[in-house]
Amino acid sequence: MAGVTRDSSVVQFGFVEEAVEWRLRSSQFPSKVGGKPSWLSLCELPGPEELSCELCGQPCVFLLQVYAPVPEKADCFHRTVFVFCCRNVACYSFNDRRSFKVFRSQLPRRNDFYSYDPPPDEPLDDVEGEGLGNPCGVELCRVCGCLGPKICSRCHVAHYCSKDHQVMDWKAGHKKSCVEGGGSKETGVSTFLFPENELVVEPEEMQPATDPEREPESSTEPAAQLAVDNITVPDFASNCLDEKELEAMAKSESEEDKVFQHFKQRIAIEPEQVLRYSRGGSPLWVSAKNVPQQESIPHCICGAERIFEFQVMPQLLNHLNVDTLDTSIDWGTLAVYTCAESCDTDNKYVPEFLWKQDYSH
Ligand SMILES: [Zn+2]
Ligand SMILES: [Zn+2]
Ligand SMILES: [Zn+2]
Ligand SMILES: [Zn+2]
Repeated sequence: MAGVTRDSSVVQFGFVEEAVEWRLRSSQFPSKVGGKPSWLSLCELPGPEELSCELCGQPCVFLLQVYAPVPEKADCFHRTVFVFCCRNVACYSFNDRRSFKVFRSQLPRRNDFYSYDPPPDEPLDDVEGEGLGNPCGVELCRVCGCLGPKICSRCHVAHYCSKDHQVMDWKAGHKKSCVEGGGSKETGVSTFLFPENELVVEPEEMQPATDPEREPESSTEPAAQLAVDNITVPDFASNCLDEKELEAMAKSESEEDKVFQHFKQRIAIEPEQVLRYSRGGSPLWVSAKNVPQQESIPHCICGAERIFEFQVMPQLLNHLNVDTLDTSIDWGTLAVYTCAESCDTDNKYVPEFLWKQDYSH
């Protein structure tokens, strides 16, 4: 159980680490990146429609999950937040959050799927190797690991979430194995999922003396310095912009620089961090622009407001094998907001909210 401890004043860092495969299965309550989702509730999984990209309509791919129980709530003894995103590069435009999906699942200690006792410290080799039942008879898409209500009409063995993934699997070898009578259980598709790794979450260690978060925000000296620097640069600008416009531009640029410097300063403490967890805390923005107001964050379906829970850092992109040279899957930071009450889910997956912020340099 690579879970997080809870204290809104403390930020916990997430790091990507290699792990043996069984450690990342549902029964171990993992936090992880890539591979197929290790579902918590094994009933009422989000369907293909809920998991399709709002922009292109194609199935989203599992990005990461964070195991984060809420100890003071009995029905959050187990609790995991799942993040999905679109695989289509064209869906990643500036500050556009519509290619992401977030779901929360939670369970009481006594539930239909897992033992009351902590998970075993060794792999189980019973049915499916999962050490748990499948009370709802859920079938998963062999390509993406999400709900697979469609079935191959020839072999009646292979399940899929969508036509997209059936076609992908057909081309990647099912065409052959299907004829042979269902054939291999595994898909030959190797380009859809992100590389699978554990997400290890640890507390942020900060030296109180140099803690940049606790410095008064009113220290204007560096900003003033930057403003001067900025004004001297665009010579041509004096012809096109009046003094007022110039001043506003310099001010906004210095503000932008200040936020970005602050961001860099904070992550320099642990440059490998891919996640910052602080339920009820505040995200570390990469930019002064496109910061959500309270009213920009929609309330949970239960009516309660949503609070910040964690943010995904741009460093995670280094672990996804995405092409960083050209246009690719990209973000400055992804801030995830979840129900403040972590309301009862009744074994379902409740949608939560993600805010995407990009660098505006
Ligand atoms: Zn898309
Ligand atoms: Zn699928
Ligand atoms: Zn088939
Ligand atoms: Zn709620």
